[in-house]
Amino acid sequence: MENKEMNEVRELEATEKVSKNFIEMIIDKDLEEGKVKSIVTRFPPEPNGYLHIGHAKSILLNYGLAKKYGGKFNLRFDDTNPTKEKTEFVDSIIEDVKWVGGDFEDRLFFASDYFDQMYEAAVKLIKKGKAFVCELTAEEIREYRGTLTEPGKNSPYRDRSIEENLKLFEEMKEGIYPDGSKVLRAKIDMASPNINMRDPVIYRVARIHHHNTGDKWCIYPMYDFAHPIEDAIEGITHSICTLEFEDHRPLYDWVVKELEYEQPPKQIEFAKLYLTNVITGKRYIKRLVEEGIVDGWDDPRLVSISALRRRGFTPEAIQMFMELCGVSKSQSSVDYAMLEYCIREDLKLKRPRIMAVLDPVKLVITNYPEDQVEYLEAPNNQENPAMGTRTVPFGRELYIEREDFMACPPKKYFRLFPGNEVRLMNAYFVKCDSYIIDENGRVTEVHCTYDPETKGGNSNDGRKVKGTIHWVAAKTALKVETRLYENIVDEAKGVYNEDGSLNLNPNSITVLKECYVEPSIAGAQAPDSFQFLRQGFFCLDMKDSTPEKPVFNRIVSLKSSYKPQ
Ligand code: ATP
Ligand code: MG
Repeated sequence: MENKEMNEVRELEATEKVSKNFIEMIIDKDLEEGKVKSIVTRFPPEPNGYLHIGHAKSILLNYGLAKKYGGKFNLRFDDTNPTKEKTEFVDSIIEDVKWVGGDFEDRLFFASDYFDQMYEAAVKLIKKGKAFVCELTAEEIREYRGTLTEPGKNSPYRDRSIEENLKLFEEMKEGIYPDGSKVLRAKIDMASPNINMRDPVIYRVARIHHHNTGDKWCIYPMYDFAHPIEDAIEGITHSICTLEFEDHRPLYDWVVKELEYEQPPKQIEFAKLYLTNVITGKRYIKRLVEEGIVDGWDDPRLVSISALRRRGFTPEAIQMFMELCGVSKSQSSVDYAMLEYCIREDLKLKRPRIMAVLDPVKLVITNYPEDQVEYLEAPNNQENPAMGTRTVPFGRELYIEREDFMACPPKKYFRLFPGNEVRLMNAYFVKCDSYIIDENGRVTEVHCTYDPETKGGNSNDGRKVKGTIHWVAAKTALKVETRLYENIVDEAKGVYNEDGSLNLNPNSITVLKECYVEPSIAGAQAPDSFQFLRQGFFCLDMKDSTPEKPVFNRIVSLKSSYKPQ
């Protein structure tokens, strides 16, 4: 290889190393040392709500690692706590995981399918003298646990014989004892500085119907015991979770060690994704939904995955966003503007750019023949010529944006005003001669003359205009509704009040009932999206849009407050 080429390869390698996140470095090391042969990761949602953008981070991180290392990625429902779970959420989660790009193929699992193995695992611990049945009340267990500064006290039931523990635990399973009367606890260390290690409860008696196992069980495992077992059963090599589980890792390791798994999974924690001034907490979203402040979990102002999809975000934009966010151990908050940047970048070259008037006022071209309709050629995407062209009907009466005309303009206003000439995008130069107002002084019509020599938007005589405005021919326009969104939170005040209530933005949604769009969108269906020239990106609403009455959501405006580094 030439020297220059070698150097390039080295440079590439160097940048590649730098761009690896800390989890990839751990995996590299585990592979190098032969601790693992191939990678298996999982996304383990509890089916107790809809997924949001934070979960998307976890999905894409786990899926991305499996893909990068040629490994496997599981979707596993962590459905061991039947009180909070609903089947409804299982379906929505499956749809959302797939949509966001977490391709789990046929690797779909339910933790509740492992209840038998978990029971056996508990029996194994008892037999090893590592677990005991305790009859302290929940309150007493709390008292005995100690505090951060004081060690705990041993339970008086801690030294029962193995035989007695086995018998009692089996009786717990048989339903002999009332709910809450007995628990199985791991026997670890009541003096551990880590409170999670002070003989944690691993099984409880609770007669709760389970969506998968019905009434088969009246004892259920606790999360900290169940999760490592689920991981081990599935052969997960790297069990990636968020930072709040860092203090639980010693217990995770204890469980997999005492159960003597040949390939014990390894827990790795990363920082949750937070968006500044954005509500992600299930509790709060639930309240907004229940109080009717938003239109369900998929209200386009929310950041649940279903809401982002309905708003018009794409999986590609969300993937790009996660790449930009990176993975780290330190907690931080990301600006929503960065997500907006990603959707703009994704749609910029992909989606047709069309003309739509959101706040219409009529423009009449007085020297244009009354019944004439002309079809003008317009590029579908100025930045992407490969998208070709289309024809746009033009006529004597058009709609233009109300703000593109001013009777008495300030300086530096280059759009329409009496005496001024502008370019109608893809069409002709028009000059404003007069305008009509109603009794309230509101402009109802703008009258112009056009110059037939300027077809296509350029003059033959070198005459220049400073303003270009968009328009839609009145006769052929499609009337649509558009919905403009702002943050549901009042950003100036911050998300939460001191009493825990939310600061809502009263202008988070603006509904415009009378907008006009060029007819080229006829036949489009949700979630098709378009750039409305000069306005932003808009997507047909999957819930409310019909062919007769199209409804568009503004995904994002064209202006950006975010600059990538
Ligand atoms: P809850 O604990 O209230 O049920 P949760 O958001 O933790 O809420 P889970 O279903 O337990 O819900 O989450 C599934 C996975 O998604 C977990 O591994 C969790 O760590 C991860 N996750 C949750 N929120 C975020 C976030 N904001 N950023 C990154 N990952 C997250
Ligand atoms: Mg959770």
